[in-house]
Amino acid sequence: MTDLQIAKKVTLKPITEIAKKFGIDPNTIEMYGKDKAKIPLSCINRNKARQSNLILVSAISPTPAGEGKTTISIGLSEALNQLHKKTTVVLREPSLGPVFGIKGGATGGGYSQVLPLEDINLHFTGDFSGIEKAHNLLAAIIDNNIQSKTNSLGLDPRTITWKRVIDMNDRSLRRIIVGLGGTTSGIPRETGFDITAASEIMAILCISKDLGDLKKRLGNIFIGYTFSKKPIFARDLKVAGAMATLLQHAIKPNLVQTMEGNPAIIHGGPFANIAQGTNSVIGTLMGMTYSDYTVTEAGFGFDLGAEKFFDIKCQSANLSPKAVVLTTTIRALKYHGGADLKSLDQPNIDALRLGLPNLEKHLENIQRFRVTPIIAINKFKTDTKEEIQMIKDLAKIKNVRVAVANVWAKGGKGAIDLAKHIIEVAETCKTKFKPLYNWDMPIETKIETIAQKIYGAEHVDYNSTAKRHLKQIKALGLENLPICVAKTQKSLSDNPNLLGRPKDFIITVREIEIASGAGFLIPITGEIMRMPGLPAHPASEGIDISDSGEISGLF
Ligand code: ADP
Ligand code: MG
Repeated sequence: MTDLQIAKKVTLKPITEIAKKFGIDPNTIEMYGKDKAKIPLSCINRNKARQSNLILVSAISPTPAGEGKTTISIGLSEALNQLHKKTTVVLREPSLGPVFGIKGGATGGGYSQVLPLEDINLHFTGDFSGIEKAHNLLAAIIDNNIQSKTNSLGLDPRTITWKRVIDMNDRSLRRIIVGLGGTTSGIPRETGFDITAASEIMAILCISKDLGDLKKRLGNIFIGYTFSKKPIFARDLKVAGAMATLLQHAIKPNLVQTMEGNPAIIHGGPFANIAQGTNSVIGTLMGMTYSDYTVTEAGFGFDLGAEKFFDIKCQSANLSPKAVVLTTTIRALKYHGGADLKSLDQPNIDALRLGLPNLEKHLENIQRFRVTPIIAINKFKTDTKEEIQMIKDLAKIKNVRVAVANVWAKGGKGAIDLAKHIIEVAETCKTKFKPLYNWDMPIETKIETIAQKIYGAEHVDYNSTAKRHLKQIKALGLENLPICVAKTQKSLSDNPNLLGRPKDFIITVREIEIASGAGFLIPITGEIMRMPGLPAHPASEGIDISDSGEISGLF
């Protein structure tokens, strides 16, 4: 059965009932149909939130075999609820574009899903549209300012990096020229489109604490320089208020339900390479306000999403997870050990052994933050007893907790063991995590610390563009911002081909982008795709809706 077919067997509870279970008066929520709602920001209580046990779900380095962080996050929250710990899973919302590319949703899988999956994966409550409009308003205002004779700031169009966004995989929009058509149609300049999830507005929405913080951050967006080399920010264009107005609904977290009828919050969806890769701070605080346990996910492997979760999100919002679940699959470890993608269904204890160092490195990285790791073996049908035992043996040697999680096949029941470990760890955890670096260290030290300690690099090289950017950032007085490294997710290094636990490699920083609204610097260490294309046979070919409105072929 497909995920959609499994999902359709579940009778959804009215969202008002879910709100009640969550702990909110159903009259308070803003309904988006019968099974989706937004929760007003006034429902957040920071003191109550501080008492919730925050659990982060991360993973080993991703492979094409799929790791299942979202699936594990949902299943774990079901299991905690079964054990009478009031738990909410808080997740990112999916981007629309990729739905029509390669099959695969972002709402979990099997018997561990959040619902309604058709809606969550398609438009949902319109947050991405709000973000897109706010982003493109700024783009329009920039071009209008360049055109204006009476209001011009004198922006040098060649220094502007702000592009336009759309939530569609459309490679033809990557590089475009705007302003063609004569004197009344703008000044021609080269620009392009990114996918909406890659917008700095997405990162800003997800790091903002409230509307005031959002507006301030929108104003802080760096645009470029005037011809006389003066830096220009969005606030100079007097546009932050209008942008924040467009985001009035998008800033409120969305309430939906899990397959077992528990509350789930889904809010914001930034990338984990050029951005922080985790749902909104507001969504997390909302979940924490009403739950004993709050389970959340950070994108890609621990080296990318989770490092940023700690050093950017937790540091800026004063959060501290009680435990980290390291999602691991036998299949992915065999792939890291050199097994061919097509052979992953076959038992291969030798490849598995060779892949283990990837798991070990991620464990060490979690412990570097002084947080307790728990390995979750996300069980696939093809896993053998010997293979599972090999990971358990490693856990024993490393003195780390491990649990097999069979949530894809069994829902919450499949993660009872994992949930019990989580409860034991969380209830005995008394300390705050230790950040990897201080924000006020020099930029180069911060980047080197991440590269050496987390990735395992020898050192960091900067090419000439990156060196120029370092000077520029220092001149702008932005050197105290945290670091959000844009790197391939496929490897601990910046070379996607180096699987397992690469050694003796150098990280090369090609350029450093400024996300002064979101409040971080982005060293770019490779080609980062911000506007995906579609395959020759896109998933859209199989998606349909019947005359009576029944959707098929989605996932
Ligand atoms: P991540 O959050 O790490 O990207 P997801 O939880 O979204 O991963 O899972 C990726 C894909 O793998 C989904 O299509 C999901 O249904 C599938 N999947 C996850 N766990 C399992 C499993 N144990 N068995 C079979 N398929 C799984
Ligand atoms: Mg996921």
